[in-house]
Amino acid sequence: MISFTPEEERMVRRIRELKAQSGSHSPSKFTLEEKIPGLDIRIDACFLSNPYATDLFLDWLKRDLVETGRLRDVLEFYPSQNQAIAENLAAYFDLPASRVFIGNGAIEIIQAILHRFCRKKIVLNIPTFSSYYEFAPPGVEVVLHRLKKEDDYRLDPDEYIRVVKESGADTAVLINPNNPDGGHIPFTSMQAMIAALSHLDQLIIDESFIHFAYADADESYSLQSVMELVKQHPHLVVVKSMSKDFGIAGIRAGFGVMSAAKVEALLANGYLWNSNGLAEYFFKLYSSTDFLQAYEEVRIRYIRETRDFLAALQQVPGIRTTPSKANFVLMEMIDGSTADDTMAKLLVSEGIYTRTCSDKIGLEGEYLRIASRTAAENEVILRALRNAFSS
Ligand SMILES: *Cc1c(COP(=O)(O)O)cnc(C)c1O
Repeated sequence: MISFTPEEERMVRRIRELKAQSGSHSPSKFTLEEKIPGLDIRIDACFLSNPYATDLFLDWLKRDLVETGRLRDVLEFYPSQNQAIAENLAAYFDLPASRVFIGNGAIEIIQAILHRFCRKKIVLNIPTFSSYYEFAPPGVEVVLHRLKKEDDYRLDPDEYIRVVKESGADTAVLINPNNPDGGHIPFTSMQAMIAALSHLDQLIIDESFIHFAYADADESYSLQSVMELVKQHPHLVVVKSMSKDFGIAGIRAGFGVMSAAKVEALLANGYLWNSNGLAEYFFKLYSSTDFLQAYEEVRIRYIRETRDFLAALQQVPGIRTTPSKANFVLMEMIDGSTADDTMAKLLVSEGIYTRTCSDKIGLEGEYLRIASRTAAENEVILRALRNAFSS
C-alpha cells in the first residue's frame, strides 16, 4: 500500500489544497512548483499534449518571428479581427470564412455556443470534459448519459440516437476521441449519428483530440474529422482546440465550424479581437503546406510511440487500462490504492504529474489519466509504475 514520509506528507497536503482550489481542473505544473517548495516536476503527464508538435512550432516561430524581429509587431499591434483570422482556416477547409468562428481556446467557443444557442436541454455522455456541464446556462437541463464500465466506456451509436431523441433535448455533445477515456467513435458511426440527429438545434462535436485518432488497421493514420460534413448539416457544430494535438495551450487557439447564421449570431455579441498575435501566426501556419507536412511527421511519430506506451502499460500488474485512441489513457488501480494517493505518490517521489480522476463523474473505480509524452519520458513513467505496483 502507498505510504508517505513526513516530508512527503507535507507536500501531499499542499497538493490536495491546490487541487481543491482548481475546481474540476488540475493546478498547472507552474502553480504546483511555485507553491510547493522542494517539489520538482520532471514529467507533466497531466496535461495532454504532443511535445514534438510544441518543438516544431517553436522552431517555426523562432525562424519567422524571433530571428526576423517580427515578434515586435506581433506584440505591439492588434491581431486581425475574428473573421480575418478565420479566412486562413476557411481556405484550408474549403469553406467560406462566414462558417468559421475563432476562439480564445476552444473553451471560449464551448461557452459561447452553450450560452447563445442552448435553450432547454443538453445531453452529455459521462465521463466527459467538465466544462460542458459547468457552462450549461441557468435554466437548461443537463441529461447525463452514462457510458458503461463493462463496455470500457464505449458509446453505442444506436442507443445514443435513441437516448437523445427520447430526451427531447435541443443540444447534444459528442467528444471524439472522448476525454478522459480516449474512446474513439469510427467515422461511419459519426456520420450515422449526425444524420439521425438532424432535428437538434445543435449537435456539438468536439474534435480536440482528433489528430491522435485513426481507423483500425490504418497504418498511415489518416485524419478522421467530420469537419467537412458541416456543409450538408446545418445543425452540426465542430469544436476544435489546437492546445493538445499541436502542443500550444499557452497561446489559446481554437476554432469552431458551424452554420453562417450561428457564426453571425456569435459575432453580434463581440469577439472582435478575442484572439492574439501568436494564435494568428499559428493559424497562418495551419494553412501552410510546408508546416503541415512537417506536422504530419511529428503527429505520426507521436501516435506510434503512444501506441507502444499504451501497449506496455497494459502489461503492468496491479492496474488496468481502457482502450484509447487519444494521447492519454485511463488507468484503473486494482490493488486497493486510491487515485488521489497514487497521483500524490508519483508526484512527490518520482516527479511525475498525472491526473487523478476522483472528481470525474461517471467513472466507477479509482482512476488516473496519464498522458503520453516523449518516448524517453514514457519509459520513466513505465518504470515508476512497475515499481509502484509490482509489490
Ligand atoms: C482541453 C479541452 C478543451 C479546451 O481546449 P482549449 O482550446 O485549450 O480551450 C476543449 N474540449 C476538450 C474535450 C478538451 O479536452
